[in-house]
Amino acid sequence: MKLYSTKNKAFVVNLERAIMEGLPPDNGLYMSKIKPLPLTFWEKFEENSFQENSFQIAKHLFEGSISDEKLAEITYDAINFPAPNYLLNDEIATLELFHGPSLAFKDFGARFMSRIMQYYNGDNNQELIILVATSGDTGGAVAFGFHHVPGFSVVILYPKGKVSELQEKQLTTLGGNVHALEINGTFDDCQALVKEAFLDKDLNTQLRLSSANSINIARLIPQSFYYFESYRQISKNIRKTKDITYVVPSGNFGNITAGLMAKKLGLPIYHFIAATNVNKVVPDYLSTGEYEAKPAVRTLSNAMDVGNPSNFPRILDLFESNSKECSTWNNVKNEITGIAVDDTQTENALKEVYQNYNYIIDPHAAVGYYALKKYMESHANTYGIILETAHSSKFKPDVERILRRTINVPERLAILANKEKVSIEMEVNYEHFKNQLLSKFLIKK
Ligand SMILES: *Cc1c(COP(=O)(O)O)cnc(C)c1O
Repeated sequence: MKLYSTKNKAFVVNLERAIMEGLPPDNGLYMSKIKPLPLTFWEKFEENSFQENSFQIAKHLFEGSISDEKLAEITYDAINFPAPNYLLNDEIATLELFHGPSLAFKDFGARFMSRIMQYYNGDNNQELIILVATSGDTGGAVAFGFHHVPGFSVVILYPKGKVSELQEKQLTTLGGNVHALEINGTFDDCQALVKEAFLDKDLNTQLRLSSANSINIARLIPQSFYYFESYRQISKNIRKTKDITYVVPSGNFGNITAGLMAKKLGLPIYHFIAATNVNKVVPDYLSTGEYEAKPAVRTLSNAMDVGNPSNFPRILDLFESNSKECSTWNNVKNEITGIAVDDTQTENALKEVYQNYNYIIDPHAAVGYYALKKYMESHANTYGIILETAHSSKFKPDVERILRRTINVPERLAILANKEKVSIEMEVNYEHFKNQLLSKFLIKK
């Protein structure tokens, strides 16, 4: 597989470098031209398992970069939980992406990436230390993704008192090769510490550091797998008669980029809805043609509080125009409708789904539900599938307040609640952070 930088298409690297490096040196994003899947894929599509179809897609994209046998092993191991459609009525479904270990869709990306990185890391005898700053879901998925993966340690930095109780448990109770640093500051402070570590030449000569950034192409690719799995579950009659539309609650726009890639691979998706909260840089771009990054505003759907979506350049790259008649903006608008939803509308949507269907969605999917209903007012032939990006219990206090009832926490999350939190508390001080890393990992070298 060949990948180029979105900032310079002449800069081309192989899959190993794109994955191990994460970002190109010019600060663009790694991207690849996507060719449609061969007919032989579709001949077996309906009868194949989720895992087998995922392997076939990875194989097509990777073009022999990893042997079939190894890639099958990695894919089957990473994609080891289901992605079921849940039908709300005969024209609306959710795609439940929360059946993985951290109960969010990010598990697909984190598990696949960790195993590919393990493969490329080989039996290098110095461990690779993954540094990750998190405000919630990313840290949990990365911690589970790399937990017990040989050759790797994970150091998670999170802002003290600013992540939910259950999210904190996911970061601090795994133990083993997962280490949590509780920073007396904000998420931005955590991110700044991680950035400084990567730029510190002295530190990097002593330790092998890597990031598990959400812009890594190895996190994006497996997110296209579940669009195929969801489509496979739609009845033939609906496929024939309705406009199949995916509604993607979006923050950094990785999930929707993966959907657009699935369509380029040949999955017959009719349209996409990018559902955002009031952080609506992309919906504004879609209506005006101007892209203007803004500071993020805090909302109920906080995993989507993003003012400058990091995957946006990939969307422009996918729909880059070479003609005068139809601009890139026109191309993107034809594929995606952007709809922004405020917190009051989000709460009302969450209540409506509960009252009408006795089904509890999380605040992010509630944004999606509201956007879909709005869209359907003028698009009557729509069959809408909302990506349910996390389990409602991850946002327990808000969901319980909105629905005025207690909600259940799945067993695998509830178990963590009784485990003891282990973390190292730290001020926002780079020297302390660096010393912590050296004292923890240098001895083991
Ligand atoms: C990360 C996340 C999102 C946003 O996904 P992007 O790929 O960044 O657009 C939405 N919902 C939940 C629950 C998330 O954790």
